[in-house]
Amino acid sequence: MKRLAEFHLSEQARIVSDQIPGKRSKELLRLQEEIEGAVVSYPKSIPIAISHAKGAIIEDVDGNRFIDFFACAGVVNVGHCNEEVLEEVTRQQKQLIHALDFPTETKMTAITNILNNLPASQRDEFKVSFGGPTGSDAVEAAIKLAKLKTGRESVIAFTGGYHGMTSTALALTSNTAFRDRLQNLAANIHFIPYSYCYRCSFGQHKETCKMECARYLKNILEDSHAGIPKPAAIILEPIQGEGGNIVPKEGYLTQLIRIAHAHGVLVIFDEVQCGFFRSGEFLACMREDALPDIITFSKGFGGVGFPISGLIYRKSVEAWGPGAHIGTFRGNQVSLAACNGAMDFIRRYDIKSHVKEMSTYLLNELEALMLDCDYIGEVRGEGLMIGIEFVKDRDTKEPYPEFVKQMRDECLQRGLIFEVGGHFDNVIRFVPPLIITKKIAAAAMGIFRQSLNVTLADTTIAT
Ligand code: PMP
Repeated sequence: MKRLAEFHLSEQARIVSDQIPGKRSKELLRLQEEIEGAVVSYPKSIPIAISHAKGAIIEDVDGNRFIDFFACAGVVNVGHCNEEVLEEVTRQQKQLIHALDFPTETKMTAITNILNNLPASQRDEFKVSFGGPTGSDAVEAAIKLAKLKTGRESVIAFTGGYHGMTSTALALTSNTAFRDRLQNLAANIHFIPYSYCYRCSFGQHKETCKMECARYLKNILEDSHAGIPKPAAIILEPIQGEGGNIVPKEGYLTQLIRIAHAHGVLVIFDEVQCGFFRSGEFLACMREDALPDIITFSKGFGGVGFPISGLIYRKSVEAWGPGAHIGTFRGNQVSLAACNGAMDFIRRYDIKSHVKEMSTYLLNELEALMLDCDYIGEVRGEGLMIGIEFVKDRDTKEPYPEFVKQMRDECLQRGLIFEVGGHFDNVIRFVPPLIITKKIAAAAMGIFRQSLNVTLADTTIAT
């Protein structure tokens, strides 16, 4: 076995350009602006052109190296171009690439691997189904299955939730800015508050609350005057990603399942981002042992970035027959081989324990920073899904997105990349590859601390 350090290009950042973006990056960004559609988004906030990447280090076309605390939106969980996973990929590519939904050894191994990662007492109750290659495809399929099973149309989603950009997935996504100009997406979708304890919709405190957020669902389902037709399902992320890496109160998921089931409503957990060991568990809902009826998966399941998505669902929910949800690209063989390779890697290197160790280290470091920076309102996270929420004032909790934007730019100049999210664009989201070493984590924290001091000293940011 190798050391995890050997799966990275290096263990620290290296900035060689006078400024980021460097000269060649600028040229490619300019060309992109000219010839690629205006929907390009990530380079608008992280303006670099990438040459290659290994592990948690990305090298741009100017030779600058960045520590990647973004992991391509939580995809490359076992690191960019993980060599041991790529061996599986190469073997598969020479053997078979596309096979529609015919059974293959590779696919059956992937399904078995997925099921074997569920709690032993429950795994026999579940099946796996593959859909189109994106997370949005999985969400579309999950809702379709729930509607077919129940014969109902309405769905309950949650504030702060993100589920994708296709029609139904977008309608389930809470950020209205994404759909302001689009009418007639999926109908009959209703939003209720998520367990976002830092900004509790019910004015409660985490330590003393009676989980009013979960009880709200109960009220809705029991009250014929709630204005919501009995739903086919509720859909939520067990840990919200784009919403600001929000970990719900312990017990919330279990409560929701209990309430929904008491009313014959199906529960869908969207594990597209928080799944595949990101939380330290195979699925984030497993930290509560709370398995729902349908689970969506994608992102990390493609091993090193190969597209794949699908559903893990209870056999009791089966409600469609052959061809009811067909599609050309379902369960691509190379993606499946990469999934198997990544699963083996995670087992071999005990990445679950590693995630917990790195998580503790980063959370401790970040909490220590709260002593020096009053603008950090909350540090939260589970595994390597960590949110740092910035506010202008800890009492009023007024969001401070300007500070976060400046932090992102300062960190980029020093070689640390991350995504920003949250209800008010005021949350720094750490979502690194799960294989970061202590040295890489420390280097990232060094850059973060330095950038924080510079940003704190900058009197031009509006408060
Ligand atoms: N669900 C969740 C929780 C996600 O985070 C995302 C992507 N960020 C999606 C669904 C949509 O996945 P995709 O972008 O692959 O369609």
